[in-house]
Parts: sequence; C-alpha cells; structure tokens
Amino acid sequence: MQVIKPFDPWKSPLCTCPPKYTLNPYTGCTHQCIYCYITSYIPHAFNCRPKEKLLEKIRKDIRKINKSLVVSMSNSSDPYPSIEKDLKLTRRILELFKRHDVRVLIITKSDLVVRDVDVLSSMRSSVSFTITTVNEEIAAMLEPYAPSPWKRIDAIRKLVEKGVKVSVRVDPIILYLNSNEKDIEDVISAVAEAGALHIVSSTFKPKFDSWRRFEKRFPAISRKLYKHYFKLGEKIGASRYLPSSVRKKLMEKVRKIAVKHGLTFATCREGFPELHLAPSCDGSHLVPT
Ligand code: SF4
Repeated sequence: MQVIKPFDPWKSPLCTCPPKYTLNPYTGCTHQCIYCYITSYIPHAFNCRPKEKLLEKIRKDIRKINKSLVVSMSNSSDPYPSIEKDLKLTRRILELFKRHDVRVLIITKSDLVVRDVDVLSSMRSSVSFTITTVNEEIAAMLEPYAPSPWKRIDAIRKLVEKGVKVSVRVDPIILYLNSNEKDIEDVISAVAEAGALHIVSSTFKPKFDSWRRFEKRFPAISRKLYKHYFKLGEKIGASRYLPSSVRKKLMEKVRKIAVKHGLTFATCREGFPELHLAPSCDGSHLVPT
C-alpha cells in the first residue's frame, strides 16, 4: 500500500495548497490538542502508534514519486510525537529522504525537531511550527501534551541558525480565546524575532467531536461562540465555520501584523486567496527547489 500519498484534504474547494504529497509516520498523535480534527476519522487517535513496516513501504514509494513536489510531514499527526524521541522513526525517514534528495516540509508542534537539524539542514527541507498562543496557561489547556510555545520559539531560533527556513501556522485562531490584536502580536513578534519568514493562519473549524472537547474545556467561551458557529455560521464539509465576514476580519488582522513584522502571509482553507502574500500558503515555497 502506498504511504506517500497525494495530498487531498477531503477535496476541499477552499484548499489552496500547491500539489504535494503527504506522509504520516504515526497513526494518531500524543499532543491531544482540544481542537484536533483527526479524532473525527482516526479511531483511538490519541493513542499514537508508529505505522508498520513504514520504511520498507517508503523505499518502494520513493521510486514512484515526482521529486519536484514536496512531501508534507505530517497532516494527520505530528511527525514528532513524544514517542519519536525513542523510536526515531521520523529521523530515519529524513535520512532516507536525504539520500534520495526528496523535498520535505515538516509540520510540528515539537521542539524535538531540533534533534534532527543535522539532517534537515543538509537536505531540501523547511519546517512549519504551529503556534496558537504564547500564553503558557492557555497553551496548556489547548494543547495539553505538546511542548510549550516558548520551547517551539526557541526551536525556531536554533533551526534558523543552522540555515533551515521556518514558517509558522497561527492556527487555529479561536474567537474570544486567542483572537485579539495583542494575542496575535505576541505570537508573531516572537516568531519574527526568532527568524521565521512566513505566517499561515486559519480560524477554528470545529467538527462534532472537537466541538464537544472544546465545550468541556472552555465552557464560558463555547457559550459565546455557539451562535457564531451554529446559527450565523456555515457548515462546509463536516466542519462548522464562522460567518465569512468574521473570518475575513480575523485573517486581515493576522495579515496586518505579519506584514508589520516583515513576514509573508497566507490563509488555510478560508476562501480568501486575495489576502495571500506568498508563493504558497503552507510554506512549501521555503523548501529549496
Ligand atoms: S498536533 Fe495536530 S495531530 Fe497532534 S493532536 Fe494536535 S492538532 Fe492533532
């Protein structure tokens, strides 16, 4: 079975990603983010396990893929869950990709990626960190088992120092939680100072199960949000969206702050490509060609 697959986020008409591949070394994830969408389609998603015979399967796939396209790791898990520290599965994949000159975009919330800077800096790669807030208290509630945002920011600095280009996903923006000017400014000023080059942002798009987790963890905010999602907002695919005008204002706010700090900007599955200021939304333009 093919494990390096063409990226196709449920054929979302709002996806602006360039053609690319996706590869998940792990099934599920240890970070257990409240807003995570993988729990809607991966059984026992927070029980993270490595994919079986993965390296063997990747070796076969490498021969067939178009090497000009980026392999995005990962879209349905983090390639650096806590178990990666001992298993070193992602590291072995990177070493293999380096030997075959495969272009890689790492998407992570973990500073463990710095362990592999020797490999990443000597191959065609870029790293995209997700940072939703720099408020440690909110981060601990929102992403309970992920490394703290300040560890991620420190990791950005270390990667940049070694020549790896970094983008940041300010994603998801959750109205009433991390959506005011100061919240966003705090994130973007810190990552700009650490050397990130590009911001991609997106609003919270709950599915049934992520909304249930969110309600439990943030009852007061979810009461205020309910009408925006379930009365005034819209349903696209299996996700609830805020009204388009609210989403656009939020994205314009992030864009303005990104520009102020000299970073490029794009949105993710929002339907506002006119706001984009970079050759790709997902940061894959930072992977050397
Ligand atoms: S890091 Fe991503 S895949 Fe992992 S729990 Fe958080 S949102 Fe889900």
